[in-house]
Amino acid sequence: MTSRFADIIIDISSEQVDRLFTYRIPDDMTLVPGQRVEVPFGPRKREGFVIEIKDECDLDPTLIKPVLRTLEDYPVILPELIELSRWMKKRYHCNLVDGLRQMIPSQMRGGRVRKKQIDIARLIVQGEELERAIESNKRAKKRLEVIEALRDGPKPVPVLNSISPGAVNKLAEQGIVRVEASEVMRTPYRALEGEAAVDPPLMRSQQHALEQIKRALDGDGGRFLLHGVTGSGKTEVYIRVIRETLASGRTAIVLVPEISLTPQMVDWFRRRFGGDAAVLHSRLSAGERFDEWRRIRSGEARVVIGARSAVFAPLEKPGVIIVDEEHESSYLSDKRPRYDARDIAKWRAEYHGAVMLLGSATPSISTYMKAMPGVKPWNKLTLIEMNERVCGRALPEVEIVDMREELVQGNKSIFSAALVREMQECLDQGRQAILFINRRGYSTFVSCRSCGHVEKCDQCDVSMTYHMADDKLHCHYCGDERKPPKVCPECGSKFIRFFGTGTQKVEEEVQARFPGVSVLRMDVDTTGGKDSHEKILSEFRSGKAQVLVGTQMIAKGLDFPNVTLVGVVAADLSLHVPDYRSVERTFQLITQVAGRAGRAEYPGKVILQTYDPEHYGIQLAAQQDYRAFYFREEKQRRRGLYPPFTVLARLLVSAKSEMDAQNAAQDLEKRLNEFLDSDPTIRRDVIQMRALEAPLKLLRGEARWQVFLKMYAKEPSDRVISYMEELEEISYEKVRVELEVNPNAML
Ligand code: ADP
Ligand code: ZN
Ligand code: ZN
Repeated sequence: MTSRFADIIIDISSEQVDRLFTYRIPDDMTLVPGQRVEVPFGPRKREGFVIEIKDECDLDPTLIKPVLRTLEDYPVILPELIELSRWMKKRYHCNLVDGLRQMIPSQMRGGRVRKKQIDIARLIVQGEELERAIESNKRAKKRLEVIEALRDGPKPVPVLNSISPGAVNKLAEQGIVRVEASEVMRTPYRALEGEAAVDPPLMRSQQHALEQIKRALDGDGGRFLLHGVTGSGKTEVYIRVIRETLASGRTAIVLVPEISLTPQMVDWFRRRFGGDAAVLHSRLSAGERFDEWRRIRSGEARVVIGARSAVFAPLEKPGVIIVDEEHESSYLSDKRPRYDARDIAKWRAEYHGAVMLLGSATPSISTYMKAMPGVKPWNKLTLIEMNERVCGRALPEVEIVDMREELVQGNKSIFSAALVREMQECLDQGRQAILFINRRGYSTFVSCRSCGHVEKCDQCDVSMTYHMADDKLHCHYCGDERKPPKVCPECGSKFIRFFGTGTQKVEEEVQARFPGVSVLRMDVDTTGGKDSHEKILSEFRSGKAQVLVGTQMIAKGLDFPNVTLVGVVAADLSLHVPDYRSVERTFQLITQVAGRAGRAEYPGKVILQTYDPEHYGIQLAAQQDYRAFYFREEKQRRRGLYPPFTVLARLLVSAKSEMDAQNAAQDLEKRLNEFLDSDPTIRRDVIQMRALEAPLKLLRGEARWQVFLKMYAKEPSDRVISYMEELEEISYEKVRVELEVNPNAML
């Protein structure tokens, strides 16, 4: 008798068990790699992933424990995705199981989600037999109704029960109807399913893009950056590329930022691809996610639309992986494994000889750089440009308004004269306007006009935000709240005032200036509830409201044909965030939000209010000149030694006691120094490394220190980051250590 063995990864994320354990496969069990099983592990039973099957094993066979049972009767993880997990382990320094876990809906683990079954009734007699059945029940009107309802196919029992709960049972007893359990799929957004839409003829630039990509599809794949101005019709290109892919017998993944996965967008894809399309995002219920995932795994759905994690969708033959709005930071995972969905897309595309297509009107600097000359072949992207909007529509005209000048003219309001004028005109013509502000709340912070004192949170070293709804100051970090002071706690002055502007204030200002105009507001405060986001958008789409006031949430992806005016109330609020990407972010935001204007027949206008009108980020955003911005920003980064030329990383140390935080940080600094000194090629590339207080030195009552590192983005930087990951694992008493690599902000 030959035994067979399975090498298994236990579903526990810990370095101690991050290796293969061998189990015996019982004779009556067949197993393949990728299947999930239950195995004895120490004193307990654990779930595990089968990685390999083998016929021989060096260990003493009597010591090898058997696999207890399979959790599913099919491999949940494709061979390719096992391979990908191995790569992730190396690349992101995570455990193999951390990668494997990405490949399945999390609720499958521990059996927290099940198939949904309901009872279905079907007629099991036909022809003469059926006639006899009808005859014998001719006095039972309800039963006849049930038979009638079942003539054109099986029906769920709950539906039939609305006719008569007893009738189905009676018919089952008579052997006329059979009731059996049947699985139902929980399809998200079923209610929205509309009629199929047809493909419009392509514009010339779209056609050109499609042809280039198609050549790669027909050949052995390729990597593209589709840089198309707002309204150039990138989505239509994606759709046609997907059609070509499906026609060649392959499958497709489209990643979009979580926020633009609105039911409208999903519905749109469904109309074009019908049941071929599956959706994956965080607002699905566990059941919906499980069912969509299985539709993909079984090959029933061949197109996946989803947020970041959909890049791991278990499609067997991906022909194209599309990343829309590739510049969005939501493609970076901030939890372990800290992966970049674009890296995963690249890996999978290479594995399958498929196409990777990144798209954006405002590509990230680091992505665009890869489409420039001189890039190593394995990083190179082919640039495809679409410089015009569809149907010859013009990009909106942008007018910069200097708000300092407004003040000189005696206008203290948050609306410039130009914005009021344009709004009036827009509303008179029966069109809609979007007012964008890069903040939430009523005003930003409270400060004393006499001594400059700013009200700060006691727990966190940040200024508090005034919310009009409850007339209180809130800390956006820890949630602490309190009444705003009437006199300055520092000098006793009564001249305490509220600085800055927020969405509420803009909303009030519109109502005060344009009485009777209906305003919708969309920000973190109004989108707390389930679907509230979507309700606001569809109300605006319906035309019931004329003005939409909002934050970042309204900046991208939205396509409202009747919007002709976009007002950027304060363009420079994000310019001075302490982050090397703040100018890039500001440029992207302004370009994207400006791109919401004039997308259909009527031309668009944008009013850009700023206190910093000469800033290149503002100027070039107004000109909607991405390329000029890129060259300017690239020079800036090169000179300032910022990514992508360098890597920034820090070990953030927090503790209740300032002393503990400082000691741990200094110890980490010492260890890191020793590591850097161990290899001169590494030391040479380090520009800066030291332990110091974090800029935000108190947060939620904890003291914060950091070990900051800046080095050239060359080969050894990977090794340094791995070492910092090891340092992150050291446990100091009463201290928390977190590693951040090129974080969004270093506060
Ligand atoms: P982008 O994503 O590049 O900003 P969209 O894909 O949202 O642009 O397209 C802008 C608008 O143009 C949408 O309303 C879309 O339906 C429309 N559109 C795209 N391609 C065509 C086409 N070939 N013919 C007519 N309308 C089109
Ligand atoms: Zn004061
Ligand atoms: Zn706080």
